[in-house]
Amino acid sequence: MQIKNINYLAEDFTVKQGSLTVGDGKITSIAAADGAIGNRLLIPGLRNMHSHVPMTLLRGYGEGLPLDRWLNERVFPFEAKLTDDDVYWGSLVGIAEMLASGVTEFADMYDHCGAIVDAVKLAGIRGRISRAFLDFSGESLKGSMREAEELELIAVKHPLITAEAAIHAEYTSNEKYVREAAEFAKEHKLAVQVHLSETAKEHAECKERHGGRTPARYFADCGFFDVPAFAAHCVHCSEDDLHILKDFGVTAVHNPTSNLKLKSGRFDTRKAYDLGVKLALGTDGAASNNNLNLFEEMHLAALLGGFTPEEVLGFALNGKIAVGERADLVLVDYDKAHLQPNHNYLANLVFSAQASDILWTMTDGKIVSENGKPVNFDIAEALVKSAKAALRIAKEI
Ligand SMILES: [Zn+2]
Repeated sequence: MQIKNINYLAEDFTVKQGSLTVGDGKITSIAAADGAIGNRLLIPGLRNMHSHVPMTLLRGYGEGLPLDRWLNERVFPFEAKLTDDDVYWGSLVGIAEMLASGVTEFADMYDHCGAIVDAVKLAGIRGRISRAFLDFSGESLKGSMREAEELELIAVKHPLITAEAAIHAEYTSNEKYVREAAEFAKEHKLAVQVHLSETAKEHAECKERHGGRTPARYFADCGFFDVPAFAAHCVHCSEDDLHILKDFGVTAVHNPTSNLKLKSGRFDTRKAYDLGVKLALGTDGAASNNNLNLFEEMHLAALLGGFTPEEVLGFALNGKIAVGERADLVLVDYDKAHLQPNHNYLANLVFSAQASDILWTMTDGKIVSENGKPVNFDIAEALVKSAKAALRIAKEI
C-alpha cells in the first residue's frame, strides 16, 4: 500500500513531506513527494496505557460518587453480573472508540480476558491484556482461579496480543499476594500494571497498614517493580515516591480526565517529568472518564502539566515514522475550520484537533478504522448488543 504525497511527523518532531510504502506490517520506504500535498498529517498511532475497556458498559453509571463508594456500591456489584458475552460486546465498543481517536495499542486490566482477546483479534488493535489480580480472602495466588485465567491469557499466541500481569491495587490485595504476583511476573517475563496512589485515602491507609510505607515503596519492596511496570494515576506520589519510580524505571501513567472526574486530585506531572520519571497517558475506564478519547487526554495533560506539544506527544505516540518501523499510523485531516490557518502542525494537533478529524487509523499495515468507524466489524451490532447487556445488568441490581 502507498500513502502518497503526504505531510508526516518525523522522528525529530518536524513535519516532512513524502510518499510512504507499507508492506508486511512495516514502513518499507519513504520517497520524495511528487505531487500536491494536501492539508493532512500522518502521525504514528497513539497508545492508551491504562484502560478497562469493557467498562463502556458502565458509562454514566454511578455518577457523582467518590472512588471508594463508586467502586463498592456501583462498579463491583455491576461487574459481578458480567458474562463473557457482555465483556466481548462492551470491549468492541471501547475498541471502536479508541481506534477512532487514533489509538493503535492499549493496556488493559480486567476480568473475562478471553472475551477481550477475541474482541482485540477481530478489531485489529494491539492489546496488552492483563487479568487483574485482587484478593480479599487471604488466599494464595498460586493455584487460584485468577492465576489460571492469567495462564490462559499467556497461552494466547497472536501478533496483536501481549499478556501482562496486574495487581489491581494495594487496598485490594495483601503483601503475600503481591509478592506472589511479582514472582509470577518474573517467572513468565511479563510487564506489570497497577493502580498507584490514586487517592489520598489509599495513600494514607497504605502507610498505616505497612509501617509508614507508601504504595510506591511497598510495591518496590515486594519486587513488583523488578519487571517493566506501568503505574496508573500516581496522583499522591511524594517526591521520594517519584524517585522510586525513576530508579525502578516505572512508567507513570497519567489519567487526567479520570483523576479530575473522580476528584482524586492532580498528579504533578511536571515535577515527575523534571525528575526523570517516564510518563504515558491513559483514559482509564469509560465509567470514570467518560470516553476513551486519547486526544482529550493529550490536550488536558498538556494544559495541566504545562507541556509543549512535542513533550505530550512523546507520552502518547506509539512508535515513529521511519523505514523499518511498524506501520501503526493515523491520518489527520487539517482541512477543518478549527485547524486553519495552520501556523504550527503540532500545536494544532494537541490544542485544536478533535478525534473526529481522523480520516483513518492503521494497525500492523492495515486500515482498521475509517471515518470514525471500525472496518473489521459491524459497530451497529456491537452498540445494540452492548446496550442490551448494560440495561439487563442495571435492572438485575
Ligand atoms: Zn483504572
